[in-house]
Amino acid sequence: MQLENSLAFAQVQDKEDKIAPFRNEFLIPERNGEQLIYFCGNSLGLQPRSAATEISKQLAIWQNHAVEGWFRGEQNWLNYHHEIKELLAPIVGAKPTEVTCMNSLTINLHLLLTSFYQPKGKKIKILMEGGAFPSDQYAIESHVKTRGYEYEDAVIEIYPREGEDILRTEDILSKIEQNQDEIALILFGGLNYYTGQFFDLAAITEAGHQIGAMVGLDLAHAAGNVPLKLHDWGVDFACWCSYKYMNSGPGGIAGIFVHEKHFKTDVNRLAGWWGYQLDKRFKMEKGFVPETGAEGWQVSTSPILLMAAHKAALKIMNDAGFENLRQKSIGLTAYLEFIINKVNEEKGEETFKIITPKNPGARGAQLSIICKENGKQTFDALVAKNIIGDWREPNVIRISPIPLYNTFEEIYKFGQALV
Ligand SMILES: *Cc1c(COP(=O)(O)O)cnc(C)c1O
Repeated sequence: MQLENSLAFAQVQDKEDKIAPFRNEFLIPERNGEQLIYFCGNSLGLQPRSAATEISKQLAIWQNHAVEGWFRGEQNWLNYHHEIKELLAPIVGAKPTEVTCMNSLTINLHLLLTSFYQPKGKKIKILMEGGAFPSDQYAIESHVKTRGYEYEDAVIEIYPREGEDILRTEDILSKIEQNQDEIALILFGGLNYYTGQFFDLAAITEAGHQIGAMVGLDLAHAAGNVPLKLHDWGVDFACWCSYKYMNSGPGGIAGIFVHEKHFKTDVNRLAGWWGYQLDKRFKMEKGFVPETGAEGWQVSTSPILLMAAHKAALKIMNDAGFENLRQKSIGLTAYLEFIINKVNEEKGEETFKIITPKNPGARGAQLSIICKENGKQTFDALVAKNIIGDWREPNVIRISPIPLYNTFEEIYKFGQALV
């Protein structure tokens, strides 16, 4: 399709967008009576209207039934996560038994590393992307240290080639092969938070398995954003947060995936009573017996109020349909790219350099833009015009158009504000 840098064109795209009405399911923040143009859903997704309704419902059960809420009726709190599992599974390409919601992301990463980082003999190393999200770096650092290794001896970080911004798949694969005798675990982000690069997870997983390594993924920026097939790819484990593309609230409950091939084996884990076999959990017996599936990694009592927001948000995603969301997302991001290139043309030079891959299959709902000059000033000027993106030192603006609630018109207006 021929894209155009005009308000009329953008408005036609919005009119033809069959999932446009889902914007009304969200509360769009306002300043001085005007709706913000919110391009920061990759950091904190907007609040679904239904979150308050679902939370109120649970508050009423707490009010009226107190402890009986755990067991009373079919919709009791003990079963509250079941529907969430059903809603999560298709979003990450898993079987419902392979996923559950629990804790928060970094905590879950620690739990899963305890299970799946099993250094043995020469195979002690973890391969990860250089410049991974800091929390992941700290988690890895603390795990190798608690196993008695020096960071430099146990972690391999892979960076883009000199002068390049994103990783080449061929380089990742050859790094895996070169270090095949030493790698115990590959831990990759699904989609790099800084560059917006969506990695070839199927290829990385296959290469990891060929050398006998475990493969785990941090899907914070991928889950609910790009298509995932965790089960079919054979990924060993994964974790993600729900407050970014899943709109489930600040510090919302996170999620994990454990492939069913690990259900039977006697896996190391940090256990708690909420991971105990459900039918015997309340017998309170000695000796931990895990529930089958991802639920066996649960540790603590379900935080029902957080889960209520999560359930409300996932239902909206499910109603919109993930395929529809992805299709619109590709269109929005392509339009954003087009508009930024138009701005560069008008300025007569590449003032805003997009480092996110051009291939729609290698990115999600985010473009990372390097500002050649006056980056922070440009960002502040956007904020003054009620356009909310995300600033990363020293010179990167991340703009994330979300298919559930952003519009083509907002992208057009962003371009106008940049000139
Ligand atoms: C957002 C994000 C986190 C944040 O972790 P929390 O435990 O939820 O604070 C961690 N890792 C990655 C890759 C992220 O994008």
